Amino acid sequence: MNGASVVDADVGVVGAGPGGLAAAARLAAGGLSVVVLDEGAGAGGQIFRQLPPGAARPAADHEPPSHASGHALLAAFAASGATLQPLATVWDARPGRLWFEQHGASRLLRCRRIVLATGAHDRCLPFPGWTLPGVLTAGALQVMVRGFAVPPGRRALVAGSGPLLLPTVTALRQAGVQVVAALEASPRRRLWRALPGVLGHAGRRREALWYARQLWRAGVRLQWGCTVFACEGDGRVERAVIGRVDAEGRPRRDTARTIEVDVVGAGFGLVPSIELGLHLGCAARFDAGRGGHCLVVDADQRTTVDGVHAVGEACGIGGAEVAAAEGEAAAAAILRDLRGGPAPAGAAQRAAAERRAADRLLGAFAPLPGLAELATPETIVCRCEDVTLHQARAAAGLHGTSLRAIKVGCRAGMGPCQGRICGPFLQALAGGEPGRPMDLPVVRVPLKPVRTDTLLQAPPG
Ligand SMILES: Cc1cc2nc3c(=O)[nH]c(=O)nc-3n(C[C@H](O)[C@H](O)[C@H](O)COP(=O)(O)OP(=O)(O)OC[C@H]3O[C@@H](n4cnc5c(N)ncnc54)[C@H](O)[C@@H]3O)c2cc1C
Repeated sequence: MNGASVVDADVGVVGAGPGGLAAAARLAAGGLSVVVLDEGAGAGGQIFRQLPPGAARPAADHEPPSHASGHALLAAFAASGATLQPLATVWDARPGRLWFEQHGASRLLRCRRIVLATGAHDRCLPFPGWTLPGVLTAGALQVMVRGFAVPPGRRALVAGSGPLLLPTVTALRQAGVQVVAALEASPRRRLWRALPGVLGHAGRRREALWYARQLWRAGVRLQWGCTVFACEGDGRVERAVIGRVDAEGRPRRDTARTIEVDVVGAGFGLVPSIELGLHLGCAARFDAGRGGHCLVVDADQRTTVDGVHAVGEACGIGGAEVAAAEGEAAAAAILRDLRGGPAPAGAAQRAAAERRAADRLLGAFAPLPGLAELATPETIVCRCEDVTLHQARAAAGLHGTSLRAIKVGCRAGMGPCQGRICGPFLQALAGGEPGRPMDLPVVRVPLKPVRTDTLLQAPPG
């Protein structure tokens, strides 16, 4: 499809993570033309992120066991005949049409079926000092280390909740960064709740043991029931105030102590990236255990919109195995639709089994409502528009606690990230209802920041 502004394929896949790659490889092997669009520089998505050419790679035994399946997936994709379009940002869509920006050009992919494999992004929680330079999300730290081979500092604090803390600590250690403290906000008893989901799944069991060994070798102990209360410093982070939280996540201020750090990775889980699906008209439902609003799909990964499938984290946080299995299930259904003949056996059942296993593990790390108390009235909650918690509360008091009312009242969520960062906690914080499911976000094009020229020169659909 090089160069042409309008290109055609049987299937357009958005996202080259495990979900998109598995779907694309299977579809191409089944004889369909497949184009995968990803805004990243290469295939792999978040978990199997590739270093730039020439960067020093970690020794193979420094990779977690799951990465073996990543290599296999990448090899199957490369051999399949599917085409990857890297650095391609999809900013508008309707069924059968995907508009994207690539190398500054405005392009359109026309296709008979769309597979959404758009993954997830970090769940942030505001606390005093979270906007200081040197304070990043756990995912962003991983991107720096694993995607660009850049050590983000020398002394790190990793804090938050959920399984993603372990790869973050490991990636930092491998980059030569000292991890001063690793804090999991959930009470330790949640570990026991999560254990059946780990021990009952061979892949996760191997992965958990591998990470436990890495932490033990590095002398890093995960401290349960603790979190970061605040970050301080002159122009960038120099210190972090940490302490214990109660079972609901409420900070116990009497336990606060200060540690010296120059980088902080704060990650409170992941939120499904569903903007593209919502824009296409797909139904979503709220599931706190799966990270928030997730696209609704049937056993064949069909969304509620004809011709649009969704797989992986966009249907709820579940991990790479779930994403790959759902990619296979979507491909099986599309092959049956477009090529006829019997469906390859078992793909949908395997995906459902992976999803059930993931739900057992991740349900144990559902967000703790008390962590909302980390923010003070002066804490910025919308970092795009510099809105403080006090201003967001005033807007909610004046206009109501719907997401839209708060947004209109104080501009929170109106900046370049379009509420991806603040949306998941804004209503809970501003409306003072920590456990409340947030409203479905309203999405508008461009779905991702693109150049004005891209909008003006968009090929007609
Ligand atoms: C920063 C980060 C780091 C992670 N690290 C780990 C880890 O180390 N270990 C682990 O087990 N799990 C990790 N995860 C969880 C991991 O995302 C999943 O387990 C797995 O990768 C999900 O696969 P997926 O195919 O659903 O989505 P992803 O792998 O997230 O892939 C989605 C892809 O869609 C692309 N995309 C999204 N929207 C658009 C658009 N509009 N236009 C073009 N492209 C788009 C993204 O660039 C991305 O490459 C991480 C998640 C994040 C967010």
